[in-house]
Amino acid sequence: MFLEDVEESWDLVVIGGGITGAGILLEAARAGLRALLLEQRDFAWGTSGRSSKLVHGGLRYIRDGHLMLTRVSVRERERLLREAAGLVEPLEFVIPIYDGHKLGKKALGFALTIYSILAHKRQHVYLEAAELRERASLLVSEGLQGGFQYLDARVDDARLVLRVIQEAESLGACALNYCAVTEVRRSRAGKMRGVGVRDVETGVERSFSSPVVINATGAWAESLHPCPEPGRRIRPLRGSHLVFPASVIPLERALTLEHPVDQRPVFLIPWEGVVVYGTTDLDHHEDLSHEPVISTEEARYLMEGLRHILPGVSTAQCLSSYAGVRPVLSRGDRPPSKESREHAVWKDEGLVTVTGGKLTTFRRLAWDALHAAGVLPGKGEREERKAPVFVRTAEILNRPPDLSPETWARLMGRYGAAAGDMVAAAGAGDLDAVPGTRTLWVELAHAARCGKVRHLEDLLLRRVRLGVCTPLGGREHIERVRTLCAPHLPWDQRRWEEEIAAYVRLWEHHYAPPKV
Ligand SMILES: Cc1cc2nc3c(=O)[nH]c(=O)nc-3n(C[C@H](O)[C@H](O)[C@H](O)COP(=O)(O)OP(=O)(O)OC[C@H]3O[C@@H](n4cnc5c(N)ncnc54)[C@H](O)[C@@H]3O)c2cc1C
Repeated sequence: MFLEDVEESWDLVVIGGGITGAGILLEAARAGLRALLLEQRDFAWGTSGRSSKLVHGGLRYIRDGHLMLTRVSVRERERLLREAAGLVEPLEFVIPIYDGHKLGKKALGFALTIYSILAHKRQHVYLEAAELRERASLLVSEGLQGGFQYLDARVDDARLVLRVIQEAESLGACALNYCAVTEVRRSRAGKMRGVGVRDVETGVERSFSSPVVINATGAWAESLHPCPEPGRRIRPLRGSHLVFPASVIPLERALTLEHPVDQRPVFLIPWEGVVVYGTTDLDHHEDLSHEPVISTEEARYLMEGLRHILPGVSTAQCLSSYAGVRPVLSRGDRPPSKESREHAVWKDEGLVTVTGGKLTTFRRLAWDALHAAGVLPGKGEREERKAPVFVRTAEILNRPPDLSPETWARLMGRYGAAAGDMVAAAGAGDLDAVPGTRTLWVELAHAARCGKVRHLEDLLLRRVRLGVCTPLGGREHIERVRTLCAPHLPWDQRRWEEEIAAYVRLWEHHYAPPKV
C-alpha cells in the first residue's frame, strides 16, 4: 500500500516505525482505535534494528540503582519468552570473575539474586573456575576465580518490530514505510489537526487528520517536539557491534566480559548462526539523517577486549559491523554509560512524545504513551497487561511434516499466522537454511511477497539478516535471492542491477568489517 491509497482520517497517528511506534500501533489497534503509523525510512531502520539483540532485565541497571527498570524488564522478558516463543528465545550467559573484577562475586551474586527474585525462579548459579571453563571453553584460566551462569533472552530485533506491525495490521491498523512526517498540524487555537507527510522517494505529499499524534521517533524526537524541561535534551549515544562467524568465536553460551580498559561489560552473543559482539557507548555527533557507522576508535576498543580471550583474532575474520544510536534524555553531565535508560514521555495538546527506554519494555512504553494521550478506554493498565503479547498461533496451525519442531516454532514466532501460508508456498529446497545462518530461503520469497520491501537493503538487512550474518553482506547469494524474489517485486532487470549496486555501496560504507 502507498501513501496515495490510504484514508484521510484516523483516530491516532503514530510517527516512527521502530519498536516503540510498532508497540503503540498494536496496543492502539487492540483498543479498537483506527491507527496509522508512518516511518520515514524502512521499518526498524533506526535503533530498533541495531541493538545488542537482548531481551533482558539489564544487570547493570541494578548496579546503577534503577531497580524499577530491571523489575519491568525482567517481567516483560518472562512474558515475551512465553508468548513470543520462537522469536524471543532463552539464552544462557556466563559471566567470569577474574582477579581484580570491578564487582566481584558478592556484588554480582547479589544482583543476580535480585534478577532471580524478579523472575520468580532461581536462574543463576555460581561455578568454580574449572566448571566455568567447561561451560565456556574460550575463557583463559589465568586469574579466573570462577563466575556465574544465568539466564536472559535474545531476539531478532528487526523481526520483532515487523511481527508487532503485522499483528497490528491484522487488527485493522495501517503502517507505511518511506513516508516522513514533515509537520504536525494544529488549528489556530492550537488544537491538534494531524500531520503532513511526504513519500521520500516519489515526492507524493498528503495530509492526515487525527485528534492525537504520538511521536515515537527515538533519537529524532526533538526535531518534531522539543523536550519542554529546561536543560534536558536528547543525547544521542552510539553503540557499535562486530559480527563474527561462529567458527571464529565458538561459544557454547553467551559471555559477559569486563572490558580490560574501562571495566564496562561487553557481550558475546550467539545469534542467528553468528556471534554478535559489543557494544560501545559514546556521544554520536554525526548527522542523524545518515546511517551510523562504527568508528576506527570503537573497533580498536572492541578488538582490545576480545583479544583478552582470543589473542590471535583480527577484524579480517569479522563478517560485518553495525552501529545504532540510543536516544537518552540527559542534562549532559554524566559519562555515557551512566546515563539512565528509562524512557520519557512529554505532551502538549494532542501531541505526545515517547523516547528512550529499551526494546525489551516496548509494551510498557506503548501503554504509557497511550495513557498520556488519553486514548485508551478506562480499563486500566492491569487489563492491558493480561492480553497476550501475540495471538496464540500454535493453537491455530499444525506443524508441516517436513519441518522440525524447532524450525516450525521459529517460523511461528517470527511470522505468526502467516507462517502456514509461507511454508505452503515453498518450492523445492526453499525450506533449507541459507548456509551459515538460521534463515530459510522461503523467508526471502515471503518477505518479497508481503513484506513491504522497497529496496534490496530492506530485504537483506531487515526482513532477513543475510546482510550482517553472511560474508560480504550475502553477495554470493544474490542471484538465488533474485530468482526467489523477482516474481514478487515490480523490478525489471535494470532496476535489479541498480538495487544490487546501491546495496553493495551501502554495505561497504556502513556494514563492512572495520579495517583496523
Ligand atoms: C547499541 C544499542 C544496543 C541496544 N541493545 C538493546 C538490547 O539488547 N535490548 C534492549 O532491550 N534494548 C537495547 N537497546 C535500546 C533499544 O534498541 C532502543 O531503546 C529502541 O530500539 C528504540 O526504539 P524506538 O522505536 O524508540 O526508536 P527507533 O528504532 O530509532 O525508531 C524511530 C524511528 O522513527 C523514524 N523517524 C524519525 N523521524 C521521522 C519522521 N519525521 N517521520 C517518520 N518517521 C521518522 C526513524 O527513521 C526510526 O526508524 C540498544 C540500543 C543501542 C543503541
